[in-house]
Amino acid sequence: ALQAGIVGLPNVGKSTLFNAVSNSAKAQASNYRFCTIEPNVGLVDVPDERLAKLAELVQPNRIVPTQIEIVDIAGLVRGASKGEGLGNKFLGNIREVDAIIHVIRCFEDENVLREEGAINPVSDKEIIDAELQLKDLESVEKKISRVEKQAKFDVKAKAELEVLLRCKAHLEQGKSIRELDLNTAERPAIADLFLLTEKAVLYVANVDEPSMHTGNKYSEALKEAVKGENAQVIIMNNSIEAQISEMENPEDQQMFMEEYGMKEPALNRLIRSAYKLLNLQTYFTAGVQEVRAWTIHEGWRAPQAASVIHTDFEKGFIKAEVIAYNDFITYGSEAACREAGRLKIEGREYIVKDGDVMHFRFNV
Ligand code: GDP
Repeated sequence: ALQAGIVGLPNVGKSTLFNAVSNSAKAQASNYRFCTIEPNVGLVDVPDERLAKLAELVQPNRIVPTQIEIVDIAGLVRGASKGEGLGNKFLGNIREVDAIIHVIRCFEDENVLREEGAINPVSDKEIIDAELQLKDLESVEKKISRVEKQAKFDVKAKAELEVLLRCKAHLEQGKSIRELDLNTAERPAIADLFLLTEKAVLYVANVDEPSMHTGNKYSEALKEAVKGENAQVIIMNNSIEAQISEMENPEDQQMFMEEYGMKEPALNRLIRSAYKLLNLQTYFTAGVQEVRAWTIHEGWRAPQAASVIHTDFEKGFIKAEVIAYNDFITYGSEAACREAGRLKIEGREYIVKDGDVMHFRFNV
């Protein structure tokens, strides 16, 4: 599964958010499956209304949503890049994730200790960014010293070195690599470094309860500060999310959310945004055994999409039968779609669309 890692300064609400995620995963577990891989890793369903609508028509034995993995990366503090706190080990954990969920404290509460003085979301964000940038600078400098000599007589190494030097200058200005415009020819120069500040990021503005629908001056300041980053800011109240997730009875949850004027847990918004951030999309398989959602990247062709079900599916791929989601709902069944000419037979070159209901034919 794809991984998103939760980062942020201490006492901003990371664990509270992680608990909300893992509790909601546990609640779902009664229906089918759950695994906590490690204490700080949880799998969570990607909420998708289309799955239930397909299931209503197909009446399968089971419904299986697609999932993403959430990792709580604690221990990131000022000085982490120099080994402060649990620093380096945790920076290593970030290297492995596909996207970062950066939680920022936007609530006041005297009872929740804050080492950095008055609430200041922008400076909090900069502290974490600076640690990640310093770590990246280390990686970039290491590679520079490796290719420097070669660059004197090798054109390829020379081009690489130029990209690395640009990255170095950029990081030294306190900027993240994701804000640096690198083209597809330049990207490979840093691809092997798995830079931390290159990863896609999503900000969670953890606000207090009265501001959970509107945001507050802190979340506004944060939004303003990240405007140039093309990043999303999710306004939510992590404590309320944790409370929702602790309720075992869905009716209690519903009542609780109504009381707070919520249509769904904010967690759903967060997960959907993370999914979008990673350029992911979903296709479905719809049989009587199970109706199931599968995660792929935008732009994947049919054989690659088939490989997420089973690696053999890609090798032995022959054809795919494809029904657009809206057609499936309109006509009500695979048979009806076939009759109406809405079931298309597609080959290896077909680029899967979000919501496609797929049936693969393959050789074993
Ligand atoms: P972490 O260190 O970032 O993992 O922070 P925690 O999730 O452990 O939260 C630190 C403290 O802040 C705990 O006592 C939480 O109950 C409290 N907390 C978390 N979210 C909120 C919030 O939205 N509002 C308030 N007032 N307190 C919160």
